[in-house]
Amino acid sequence: MGDKKSVMKMENQKPAIEGGKPVRETFLPYATQWIGEEEKNEVMKVFDSGWLTTGPKVRQFEKDVADYVGAKYAIAVNSGTAALHCCVGAINIQPGDEVITTPFTFLATANVIIYRGGKPVLVDIDEETYNIDPNEIRKKITTRTKAIIPMHYGGHPCKMDEIKEIAQKHNLYIIEDAAHALSAEYQDEKIGTFSDLSCFSFHPVKNITTAEGGIITTNNEELAKFCVMHRTHGITKEAMERYGKDADWGYDMERLGHRYNMTEFQAALGVAQLKKIEKFQKKREEIVAQYNQAFFAMPELILPSVKSYAKSSWHLYPIRVNNDLLKVDRNQLIRALKAENIGVNVHYIPIHLHSYYQKNYGFKAGDFPVCERIYNSIITLPLFPKMNTQDVQDVINAVKKVINYYKK
Ligand SMILES: *Cc1c(COP(=O)(O)O)cnc(C)c1O
Repeated sequence: MGDKKSVMKMENQKPAIEGGKPVRETFLPYATQWIGEEEKNEVMKVFDSGWLTTGPKVRQFEKDVADYVGAKYAIAVNSGTAALHCCVGAINIQPGDEVITTPFTFLATANVIIYRGGKPVLVDIDEETYNIDPNEIRKKITTRTKAIIPMHYGGHPCKMDEIKEIAQKHNLYIIEDAAHALSAEYQDEKIGTFSDLSCFSFHPVKNITTAEGGIITTNNEELAKFCVMHRTHGITKEAMERYGKDADWGYDMERLGHRYNMTEFQAALGVAQLKKIEKFQKKREEIVAQYNQAFFAMPELILPSVKSYAKSSWHLYPIRVNNDLLKVDRNQLIRALKAENIGVNVHYIPIHLHSYYQKNYGFKAGDFPVCERIYNSIITLPLFPKMNTQDVQDVINAVKKVINYYKK
């Protein structure tokens, strides 16, 4: 069987990292934005509108997002992190207060607790959804516990009923880190109204983008007002009320706030992006269906699952590798997939494994066994609406090639 064709085929089946040919010539990122003419037109209009920073476009974006998730109030800020920081300010987290959250998240979720002098209390996650485990929350509640910050990992909603029950019983606030979860649904209702405050991010890798940006949604008028104050130095009046002929010059600072307001450019981008969210969601679902179809019969892989109470926004498509069936570890698989020009990633390096958290809060490896087991086997595959049929096929071919080569 030494003919030219089968030699070529053999070469194609060899991973690029072992000297074969990569499945594609150009690098495919794990996520990226999709900007069209509509977005460009909206942003250009801002230049001639008379407002460059927080003004009528921001108001419109806030209204659009509030309507979309079904919330009474939305407060736009300049990042998802800023949204979380305003929320812990709004509920007045103080030094000594404990806030419970997940270790399997981006650093921002826990960092904002520390910004207020609060203590981040981490609890282990659920093996199937990778979300915070309500049973573990119960074990860590003390008299100092003030709030819970669940994060909807990859866009799959947490068990909100159980978390709310715990919060009600112990009189705790809930702030949802919904950075992944715009368009996700819990029991057929959109994420954004299930708890006191919900935070979304519009970083370019998220499901829609404003370049940098974030938003808080809530049904609580008082908390909404506090968030508005926190985004503008703790001042009771916003720019739109302070400028103009009829505006009164006076203002008062009631709290120590921040400088987190959103610009008109970001809001214009957001308004145009939000109009496309259903289309983006559909594209994500189509790609997920193709991945599921391609990988479900491979015992070396554990695919993401969706619970009956959930509709995922499919922010991420994380696969887990079954280390018992493979000759190499997860890190080597990542190197191999990168060599194929497939931009895989890891979400996330757990909070408690970062040196800052170990040094200052006494966390150590081994503290959260489920989280660590998942962390050591997980790989995020590329998933974004702008992927074309060939991109999706390249990911599938690369994963199959690499797994087939390294399986026992
Ligand atoms: C992206 C993200 C954030 C922070 O959002 P930024 O807009 O980047 O500040 C917070 N939490 C999670 C889980 C995220 O993925």
